Amino acid sequence: MNYVGNIIRPPSEAYSIILQVTLGCSHNRCIFCSTYKGTKFGIKDDETILKDIDYASRVLKNHKKLFITDGDALVLPQKKLIWLLDNINKKLPWLERVGIYGNAKSLKRKTLDELIELRERKLGIIYYGVESGNDITLKYIKKGVDAATLIEQGQKVKNAKIQLSVTVLLGIHPPGLGLEHSIDTGNLLSKMDPDYVGALTVIVVEGTELYKMQQNGEYILPSKKDLLLELRNMLYSTNLSNGYFMSNHASNYVPLKVKLPEDKDRALELLDKAINGELALRQEWMRGL
Ligand code: SF4
Repeated sequence: MNYVGNIIRPPSEAYSIILQVTLGCSHNRCIFCSTYKGTKFGIKDDETILKDIDYASRVLKNHKKLFITDGDALVLPQKKLIWLLDNINKKLPWLERVGIYGNAKSLKRKTLDELIELRERKLGIIYYGVESGNDITLKYIKKGVDAATLIEQGQKVKNAKIQLSVTVLLGIHPPGLGLEHSIDTGNLLSKMDPDYVGALTVIVVEGTELYKMQQNGEYILPSKKDLLLELRNMLYSTNLSNGYFMSNHASNYVPLKVKLPEDKDRALELLDKAINGELALRQEWMRGL
């Protein structure tokens, strides 16, 4: 397979065929993100993409899922996405699901009917990075979108009957705004009602704008206890009709996989224990992105 630059994928796509179709991220401005820094956004040529699909059809026959990268490949024009999915389905008919990263900008470019067209071609899940439901925080991290737009676009994915997996980020708010960030994010999640929520904890990476802001005091990394309180408040404010709230990413201090609504109270009790120092936290050396 032809891979250029950093390749990332959600943990749940660990056994998927990874097909790189775009390079980098068309937004590439979030202050905490170093993944595609220095990569100019681009679309790979048809010939390279078709060669990879052909290779997968011959060599990767045991894989039931395929994941399209890079950052927000959903930003591709609809015609190109249809072409891509038709070729994938023609050569790899045994696939059960195709997944992709999307952001509010790429989703805004798609109508509900267009998303349905993609779902009919096996696009089964969109991984949607929202980070926060708090408008001050969204502006601070340069997400380029407000909470109302994030909610509207997330609801469109649900209406298209494509699974929605949302990523949120603990600790990314301006100093002193942890409570607002966590409650507003929980409310945003409740309005979108995704199938999966993945909560990550911010890790300040050298070279990012966030790192510079931390150096000059514009950003303060919350304490472990405050990060746990954020997680608790976020989970408390999140009401899903039938979904999972997960904090099992390696960046977190307490790994949780909470089925909502039924397991919420049990998870909150566990977080209370962690906040009160009655539960061992993940060691710093074990944390990572
Ligand atoms: S939209 Fe995603 S990939 Fe792009 S800069 Fe922001 S966090 Fe990074």
